[in-house]
Amino acid sequence: MFDLSEILAKNDFSKEELIFLLSLSGEDEKTLLNKALETKLKFLDNNVHLRGLIEYSNKCRKNCLYCGLRKENTKVERYELSEKEVMDCASLAIKLSYGSIAIQSGERQDERFVNKIEYLIKKIKHLSNNSLGITLSLGEQTKEIYQRWKEAGAHRYLLRIEASNKDLYYKIHPQDALHSYEKRVKCLDDLLELGYQVGSGVMVGLPFQTLGDLADDLLFFKRKNLAMIGLGPYIPHPDTPLYKYKDLIPENAERMSMTLKMIAILRLMMPQINMVSATANQTIDELGREKAIVSGANVIMPNLSPAENREQYSIYPDKACVNDTPTQCYNCLDIRMQTINHQILYNEWGDSVAFTKNQKTNHQQEL
Ligand code: SAH
Ligand code: SF4
Repeated sequence: MFDLSEILAKNDFSKEELIFLLSLSGEDEKTLLNKALETKLKFLDNNVHLRGLIEYSNKCRKNCLYCGLRKENTKVERYELSEKEVMDCASLAIKLSYGSIAIQSGERQDERFVNKIEYLIKKIKHLSNNSLGITLSLGEQTKEIYQRWKEAGAHRYLLRIEASNKDLYYKIHPQDALHSYEKRVKCLDDLLELGYQVGSGVMVGLPFQTLGDLADDLLFFKRKNLAMIGLGPYIPHPDTPLYKYKDLIPENAERMSMTLKMIAILRLMMPQINMVSATANQTIDELGREKAIVSGANVIMPNLSPAENREQYSIYPDKACVNDTPTQCYNCLDIRMQTINHQILYNEWGDSVAFTKNQKTNHQQEL
């Protein structure tokens, strides 16, 4: 059988070794998480980067079977932030010294939406004298649209693959042109080709998901050489079709533990990437966000969205911190990070070290 200390001395794992690591429990699980923390501190120090999250709109053209924002969920009151509301969020990010923001939304491709995002990116860049980094998480778009937004000033893009196994992908999405696995992968490839820092990720603890699937997800991230990863537990939403399988999924504690192991293993495999501690962690475990940070994550996305819209951005139920004001978040986060001996870096973009290093190597090769 496998020897844990021998495996932990490596940074490249076979699928069987990954399944072994994902199966760890008790003291062995703790050894894995501690090794990931040690690796992170060695390569990236105890720094935590912030992305102030702006939940731009909950209007969505898609019908992902797990998500509360899906088009067919008629219980959601739909909203779209005004220009002023977005600019107020950006001003708040500057005031709170957040070095970066992330604009997230339900997926839309109409010209009005695309133009407005382009305009807002330019305006935020101008407002901040280029000091705010901009991450986008606006779903699948054409390469031309990704390019327009990049030229406007966005430099990072998050698009979770959700499940890298095609069979599983179609168990959690409708099988139609709007939810094509190939299109999802093509979008990631387009973003990589355009020179974005690209992030992806999956939900952990989905119905029908096996340890083999999760191992394949980790191998997928490595193969794509991604700069950022956002992993979080799946949280069943009562107004979605996938909810009927909620009894098939592991308990909260088990989904949390699996998420932490995924983060920890990935930190060993890709020591210098940026990894988000998702808000979903905190939703299923009061200390979930901190646990992810001490298991290898190094990015947090505090919410900047206007209070009146937060409940409506109900991707999953009982989202943590929906009632906190941005200033409360600011203070709370700083203290929470200090208690685990981590420090937030303010006024910095906090780019992925893996990405920056890659860029330099490519540049040197071109010379
Ligand atoms: N529309 C964009 C961005 C918003 S959704 C997109 O789909 O890429 C952002 C993320 O929320 C998704 O990638 C998905 O992984 C996550 N999400 C959706 N429903 C969820 C649920 N029920 N539990 C946990 N995460 C969920
Ligand atoms: Fe829309 Fe994204 Fe939710 Fe899918 S996951 S329904 S694309 S908001």
